[in-house]
Amino acid sequence: MSNNTKFIFVTGGVTSSLGKGIVSASLAKLLQSRGYSVTIQKLDPYINIDPGTLNPYEHGECYVTDDGAETDLDLGHYERFLNVPTSQANNITTGRIYKNVIEKERRGDYLGKTVQVIPHITNEIKERIKELSEQYPYDIVITEIGGTVGDIESLPYIEAVRQMMWELEDDCLVIHLTLIPYLSAAGELKTKPTQHSVKALLELGVQPDVLCCRTEHPLDFELRKKIARFTNVTINAVIEARDASTIYEVPLFLQAEELDSVVLDKLGLSKGNPPNLDHWKEFLDKLNNPTFEINIALIGKYVELKDSYKSITEAIIHGGVANNAKIKVHWIQSENVTAKNVQELLTEMHGILVAPGFGSRGIAGKIEAIRFARETGVPFFGICLGMQCAVIEFARNVLGLSDAHTTEIDPDSKHPVISMMEGQKKQSNFGGTMRLGGFSCQLKPGSKIYRAYQSDQIRERHRHRYEFNNDYLAAFEKSGMTGIGKNMESGLIEAIEISNHPWFIGVQYHPEYKSTVVNPHPLFVSFIQAALQQKSTNG
Ligand code: GLN
Repeated sequence: MSNNTKFIFVTGGVTSSLGKGIVSASLAKLLQSRGYSVTIQKLDPYINIDPGTLNPYEHGECYVTDDGAETDLDLGHYERFLNVPTSQANNITTGRIYKNVIEKERRGDYLGKTVQVIPHITNEIKERIKELSEQYPYDIVITEIGGTVGDIESLPYIEAVRQMMWELEDDCLVIHLTLIPYLSAAGELKTKPTQHSVKALLELGVQPDVLCCRTEHPLDFELRKKIARFTNVTINAVIEARDASTIYEVPLFLQAEELDSVVLDKLGLSKGNPPNLDHWKEFLDKLNNPTFEINIALIGKYVELKDSYKSITEAIIHGGVANNAKIKVHWIQSENVTAKNVQELLTEMHGILVAPGFGSRGIAGKIEAIRFARETGVPFFGICLGMQCAVIEFARNVLGLSDAHTTEIDPDSKHPVISMMEGQKKQSNFGGTMRLGGFSCQLKPGSKIYRAYQSDQIRERHRHRYEFNNDYLAAFEKSGMTGIGKNMESGLIEAIEISNHPWFIGVQYHPEYKSTVVNPHPLFVSFIQAALQQKSTNG
């Protein structure tokens, strides 16, 4: 552990979904802009080893790091805000903690001892928190504890926090995010749920240093005084966290509340220069004052839960800002798209994005939408399964291979234009066995993708088992769909495009994971640019 690292813990009270991830990312942004090196970690109390095997309807998108970890979507916020990559060590679940402890027990590391929640599980949690500061001498590690205080599942984490506060004293700080509901019948903000929530934390031996209070209305001085009095928190550390119209506003709201100053004071760190947020403010200004507006269809099978496509929608926002455009995203359930209604559903769209996914549900609709985009010249962006569907559509409707398919859905397909990667065939477990994380890719100069990246060497993140079947490459290229990106070690096709279409690109990787406020992803920027062009030429 680096000697100087300070640890900030973020807990949540009253309800879930208060936005601990955004508060953590926003605080990290403020501290980073004052010159501190900061990382953020998420501890998830569920028993899955990682969220890779979870249906997106459970917790939203599975985010993938460059080193191949399948993680909670909050890590996406951390990267988008900080513009610094996260890794395996930034997301730990109870399943992972127990797995490590049980493996140690089997190895004989605890020989002769009874293995218990305290100290063995709590020690493992503390090691996973400190591990980050061993990998890199961060000034500050922010650890977000998933769940809500009072949950049975999060007890060992809160206990680990209590122990670290005791062991490291002034090097630790606890921020509790809580809710101040507004009762419209009474016309009042209510502090009681917060009082109870802090009491629950105190019962576990943890005194919060800072309260971030989610509220729809301003907290006046008297109310702050009341909260401070009941919770032993200094009044300047009762921070208002007002609902924002966009998550990108939150760092500025929290800066106005002086959250960063309070935190630095309490940790005994110097404040140095005020945070330089010029770039951030410029981004926000462009986001709030767009010149253009366009419609993008996002076609997927999990559209009822928008968090399932979090990184895609954020990358669309980044691409929009880079083009001074507001993007109206139209969520389209792929199961509902048919040959009959596709024209009506998509006619107003300036760009069509077909999302990643698994399994057969909604595939037919995705293929119909892609056919529409290919035939009408509307910009099309296919990501992972979206690209695979574009390959199937082209095989069926251009190459005339009417039974072409992916072996994921039809293992006996006569024309398996998408097939399982060799390395995947020997996998028997589902968890953590896909082709995961960053791989390099070489782009053909002259292609649209190459022009977007301005480079022929890229590195992007993957999460899949199936790939373009190279046996068909020559036939595709003869008819106009080109394998434009290739991994030179494996020979896998990572990107395709149709050159005589205004913008028809499919990528086997997930560009959305790498789009940040500072670095909007070049493919999303280019896609939105093409959609603007589509609007100006076709209305
Ligand atoms: N199901 C496809 C595969 O495994 C695509 C995965 C994805 O879209 N992430 O290859």
